[in-house]
Amino acid sequence: MTDLMVKIGGVTVPLKDCAWSMWAKCGCMVAISLAVSGDRILATEEQAHKNHSPRKRDRDREIRNGYRWVLITMARYRSEIAAQWECKQHRKPAA
Ligand SMILES: [Zn+2]
Repeated sequence: MTDLMVKIGGVTVPLKDCAWSMWAKCGCMVAISLAVSGDRILATEEQAHKNHSPRKRDRDREIRNGYRWVLITMARYRSEIAAQWECKQHRKPAA
């Protein structure tokens, strides 16, 4: 575990309450990784991307295609984002 604190939108929160979200150019969130999971700590956008896409070739392609990573709080994820998958291509399949 870690005591790292981060600032999101002017508010300081523990990194362990955050997650890295991956966004497509169309405005959809397409992936999410916990910032802290056991001993694994993702403190930067680059670390989050490497964790999600271990192969550099994949990361380069994703960057070329306009994907980006944004740190969000889990509270915000649950309240605002979880159910919002916007375009047809990225809509969350019905469970
Ligand atoms: Zn989309």
